[in-house]
Amino acid sequence: MIRLENVSKKYGDQLAVDSVSLSVNSGEKHVLIGTSGSGKTTLLKMINKIIPKSSGDIFVNDINTDQWQDYLLRRKLGYVIQQIGLFPHYTIRQNISLVPGILKWPDSRVKERTFELISMVGLPERMLDMYPDSLSGGQQQRVGIARALAADPEILLMDEPFGALDPITRAGMQQEFIQLPGIENKTVVLVTHDMMEAALLGDKITVLNKGKVCQSSSLAGLLFRPDSEFVSEFLENQREQLEWLAIPVRMVADQLPLAETDGDYPVVSSSLRLSQLPANGRFLVNESGHKYLATRDECLSLYYQNREEIRTKMSADV
Ligand code: ADP
Ligand code: MG
Repeated sequence: MIRLENVSKKYGDQLAVDSVSLSVNSGEKHVLIGTSGSGKTTLLKMINKIIPKSSGDIFVNDINTDQWQDYLLRRKLGYVIQQIGLFPHYTIRQNISLVPGILKWPDSRVKERTFELISMVGLPERMLDMYPDSLSGGQQQRVGIARALAADPEILLMDEPFGALDPITRAGMQQEFIQLPGIENKTVVLVTHDMMEAALLGDKITVLNKGKVCQSSSLAGLLFRPDSEFVSEFLENQREQLEWLAIPVRMVADQLPLAETDGDYPVVSSSLRLSQLPANGRFLVNESGHKYLATRDECLSLYYQNREEIRTKMSADV
């Protein structure tokens, strides 16, 4: 659990972070999004005390970070640095085992953990003895994530962890990340400037602009109840795809034909988002005791036909 209360950071006269308050529940995946220079990295680094705050309070598990010993705090908080930040003269093994080393784990345990981690992030064991510059950008980002996970921290702070990747590799890594073993129990604060990434990974999304919080809510909240013009404009370019990620199929279910028999069709929950519907074939949607027969294309065309009405319903639901 992380809570920020009126946290600010001043560089000279400039407020890089301006009185930010927000809270991240245990197990939550919280995304900080904003344009370059909006204070995301500064905010993240104040949580693990790499950058001292100018004012305000930060609590980790209800204890003020002023009271946390730095080494205990950083053991609790895994950190994935923007620009990856692997040590070039250390092998991958040495990079990954940095924190366990600091924690003075016995050699045998460190060794075992490095094998576990390298396979967890989908890299071959032989890479453990290689140096960062002989790995691709994507492979290095995987190592960065392995390093942050090394001591199995309760909380992960991730600064643009997929930023150095081409769009296709990035999409793959995002999917793998949400499926990492044990990730569902970890609290994650992830920084990005990519709205689709925020929508895919975030239970909650905080939009930052010029060091201030514009809005902190679910994706549906940002889409259907934006607090400001800035937030709606921020989403505008990708509104359709973002709406597919936010709108559950029950929003169109009652306009689908009722199924006459169950047949052998797969059944999907009515809370499934439009983007998650099976891409091929027919399926049944179970909603309020009725079963409707649908294809993904039919659901999407109902969305297009009834967009304004669906948006009104969604804003009432947020
Ligand atoms: P983001 O990660 O959102 O791109 P940063 O947190 O890196 O933004 O930076 C926020 C603002 O603070 C920017 O205007 C940046 O130029 C400024 N800034 C960051 N670090 C320093 C520093 N060490 N000294 C002076 N200004 C800084
Ligand atoms: Mg940054």
